Amino acid sequence: MSPHITSKLPNVGTTIFTVMSGLANQHNAINLGQGFPDYQMNEELMNKVSEVMQKGWNQYVPMQGYMPLRESIAEKIEYLYQTKIDPDRQITITPGGTYAIYTALTSILQPRDEVIIFEPGYDSYIPNVEINGAVPVLIDLRFPEYKINWTEVRKKISPKTRVIMLNSPHNPTGAVLNEEDIRQLKDIVRDTNIFIVSDEVYEHLIFDGIPHQSILRYPELLERSFVCFSFGKTYNCTGWKLGYCISSPSSMSEFRKVHQFNCFCCHTPSQVALAGFLKNKDAYLSLGGIMQAKRDYFIELMRSTKFDLLNSSGSYFICAKYNRISDEADRQFAIRITKEHGVATIPVSVFYKTGTDNKVIRFCFSKKKETLESAVERLIKI
Ligand code: PMP
Ligand code: GLN
Repeated sequence: MSPHITSKLPNVGTTIFTVMSGLANQHNAINLGQGFPDYQMNEELMNKVSEVMQKGWNQYVPMQGYMPLRESIAEKIEYLYQTKIDPDRQITITPGGTYAIYTALTSILQPRDEVIIFEPGYDSYIPNVEINGAVPVLIDLRFPEYKINWTEVRKKISPKTRVIMLNSPHNPTGAVLNEEDIRQLKDIVRDTNIFIVSDEVYEHLIFDGIPHQSILRYPELLERSFVCFSFGKTYNCTGWKLGYCISSPSSMSEFRKVHQFNCFCCHTPSQVALAGFLKNKDAYLSLGGIMQAKRDYFIELMRSTKFDLLNSSGSYFICAKYNRISDEADRQFAIRITKEHGVATIPVSVFYKTGTDNKVIRFCFSKKKETLESAVERLIKI
C-alpha cells in the first residue's frame, strides 16, 4: 500500500496566477494577468548584487537578516512615517511578503481562532489561516468602490476574533485606506486581544498624492500588528522574493521562533546590496509617479474599448466591468479572451471564497508602454 496524505488544504487547487500565466504562454497572449513588471529592474542594484557576490558575500547572514539592511529599513521608516523602530528587535528579513504574512499568522493563531478577511482578497490569506486550524470570517468590500464597511466589521467581531487582515494599497482592486478607516480600526481594536496583519507590499505604489496609511504611522496600532513588505514590488524584481516584517519586540520574538525553523535566513548578496541601495530615497519615492503614469496611460488607451474601468488609487492593478461586451461568468470570459483575443487577465471572482462574480476582471498595468498598446489594440476588437 502506498502512503496517503490527508490534505491540510483539501479545497485548494492551483492558483489563478499559475493558471492564467500558463494559458497566456500556451496561446501566446499578452499577459496582463499575473502582477509583475515586464521591464528591467534598476541596473545599479543589479550590478551591486553581482559586485558583492564577487567580493565574497555568499554565506549565511544572521537569522534576523543582515544588520545594516535592518538599520537602513529603520532609517527609511523614521523618514517616511516618523516612527522609531529597533532594527535589532523589531525587523526580520523574509523571503518575500507572502512568507512574512504566513509567518505572522502562524505565530499568532491557535486552532478555532477567527480571522477577519476582506473580499476580494489576496489568494494566500485564507489558506494561511486554514492551515493553522483557524477560521476565516469573510466580509465583502463594498462594490464598486471596494471600501470597508466598518459597521459590518463590528458585527462580525466575536470573542474568538484574533486577527484583522488588512491590505492597502489593495490587490486586486487598487483601493486604499484613508484616515477615517484608521480611526474606525483604532476604535474597534482598542482594549481587545486582536492583532492586525497589514499587507503593505504596495506601500510605494500609491497615486494622486494620497498618503499611504501605513500602520507604522500609528504606535498604538503597531504594538498589536505585524506589518509586511516586499522588495520585489519596490524595486521591480518580483522574482527576488525578498521582503520584511515589522512588529513589536515581543511579537517579533514569536515570529522569529517560526521563521528560524522554516527559512532561517535569506539570500545574502541581495541583502548586502539593498542595505546601501535603500539610502537612495529617489529610487522608492519616484515609484508612485512612474506607476501612476502607467495607470493613466492605460486608462487613456482603454477609452476606445467597451470595458468600463473602476477606480485604482494604488498597486499594479485596475479592475474593469465588461457588461457591455458579455454576460459570461468572469472566469469563462477571462479564459475566452486569452484564447481568442490574446490578452490574459485575472477574473476577480477568484479572490472570493464563494466565487462572488460581479463580472469584473483585473488588469495589471506595470508593463512597458508597447505592451499596454499592443494589448489594447487587441482589446478594442472585442
Ligand atoms: N501581498 C499582495 C497583496 C500581493 O499582491 C503580493 C504579490 N505580489 C504579495 C503579498 C507577495 O509578495 P512577495 O512576492 O514578496 O511574496
Ligand atoms: N501578487 C501577484 C498578483 O497578484 C502574483 C503572485 C503570485 O503569482 N502568487 O498577480
